[in-house]
Amino acid sequence: MTDLTHNVGGKAVPGTSGRFADVFNPATGVAEKRVPLATTDEVNAVVAVAKAAWPDWAKTPPLRRARILDRFKTLLVENADKLAELISAEHGKTHDDALGEVTRGLEVVEFAVGIPHLLKGEVTENVGTGVDSHSLRQPLGVVAGITPFNFPCMVPMWMFPVALACGNTFVLKPSERDPSAPLFIAELLHEAGVPAGVFNVVNGDKEAVDALLDNPDVKAVSFVGSTPIARYIYSRGTANGKRVQALGGAKNHAIIMPDADIDMAVGALMGAAYGSAGERCMAISVAVPVGEETANRLIEKLVPQIESLKIGPSTDRASEMGPLVTAQHLAKVRGYVDQGEKEGAKVVVDGRGFKAPQGYENGYFIGGTLLDDVTADMSVWKEEIFGPVLSVVRAKNYQEAVDLVGQHEYGNGVAVFTRDGDSARAFAHDIEVGMVGVNVPIPVPMAFHSFGGWKASLFGDHHMHGPEGVRFYTRLKTITTRWPTGMRSEAEFVMPTMG
Ligand code: NAD
Repeated sequence: MTDLTHNVGGKAVPGTSGRFADVFNPATGVAEKRVPLATTDEVNAVVAVAKAAWPDWAKTPPLRRARILDRFKTLLVENADKLAELISAEHGKTHDDALGEVTRGLEVVEFAVGIPHLLKGEVTENVGTGVDSHSLRQPLGVVAGITPFNFPCMVPMWMFPVALACGNTFVLKPSERDPSAPLFIAELLHEAGVPAGVFNVVNGDKEAVDALLDNPDVKAVSFVGSTPIARYIYSRGTANGKRVQALGGAKNHAIIMPDADIDMAVGALMGAAYGSAGERCMAISVAVPVGEETANRLIEKLVPQIESLKIGPSTDRASEMGPLVTAQHLAKVRGYVDQGEKEGAKVVVDGRGFKAPQGYENGYFIGGTLLDDVTADMSVWKEEIFGPVLSVVRAKNYQEAVDLVGQHEYGNGVAVFTRDGDSARAFAHDIEVGMVGVNVPIPVPMAFHSFGGWKASLFGDHHMHGPEGVRFYTRLKTITTRWPTGMRSEAEFVMPTMG
């Protein structure tokens, strides 16, 4: 059993609370590490370190901050395999999937390297006679990130590259399920030249989170996780006068129109529903075929592919899907399938009977599952399952499909599969969801756009990374200037010479 640490002031720092959480290898079910859970005092001490580092970092020219991030990017590329292995060992996702997450995070670093351009303000000459105005975007101070288990590398990287580039110092509280990747990221940042105290990792649970929410020196909080916690973070953080962006859970639908390329839709659904064992906030968990014929064709093509999914540990590079993250989460996902069956859904492919490969019998594996005849009154439609379970809700027509999406409490992502540009355009315009894919199953915006859902999938005013990230991590200052008449009254008409 290895004891993990915090990373404070550029150094690994052991926990002093005496409280730990076990970190499991989900493929074997063995607790291989322990992560320290910080007390309020420990968190406050970390915030004090970040506060002390802030003035110098804020004064560092954006170009110099960008160059440090550029070196960090090179280190990320060089260490991508190691980072992916750390992710897979604690999360369970396949190696290639973990590498994909590193790349999506790295793209935010690439975006943040352009910070000298992104921080440029606006100027208006002559807002009044002889009066000019210009605006600046200045950093906030110490900002915090609280992140979920499902992307231990990418989600922190939605936040800190932009926050640091803008001149803030950062305290990350990663998920206690898979903290090793963020701890390694802290080492790489320091190797790249981030000064001590500018980026810190404090591990912990609710006590640590509450300490960050209550500490007056934390000026902004970025959160990604489940909706009940997102709602809580938003209300407690804003009540304490902080800026908060809190991204929550999801239930993403894919509408398959009768004119869709059905093979394209099936391929897209396989990756989007079962990739990362469905533990993605942008996973497609509901397929809505329009018309009986579309539904029957879709299911007929999905079934053999789901049944032949290669499920195994990340160390087997042929695996297409790994285990779930914890035993509790496995029990929850199985419980949803039981409940769906009880409520009248048809279990077309049943992953509950999946037999794990030899040596991995105690891992948290479940097979890909397909539920048909799901309706809007069932818990498997209403709630986020966060597992490899795809529900099919059959819609009679386009409007019924659109209304189903509109009636859900979440509004993170949605996709439509069709060959008809007119209905796709109307769909993209009218649907009340933050991220829309047209023949694209997981429409995660690139780093230079911003990521975020609507309704119960996001609390706050700003999406993450891209231009919205820069706005979130800076405050606007507008300066209005008038100068008294000076030298010109003493004008000289001969060629000026120095001295
Ligand atoms: P979670 O809400 O359980 O945990 C997220 C973070 O909150 C962790 O750091 C955890 O330590 C902390 N936390 C947990 N309980 C807390 C409490 N009572 N008080 C204070 N802090 C608490 O989420 P998770 O299970 O780690 O991640 C899965 C969830 O995250 C899913 O709902 C998924 O949809 C969501 N998610 C959303 C997005 C998005 O962009 N909207 C992205 C990734 C994940």
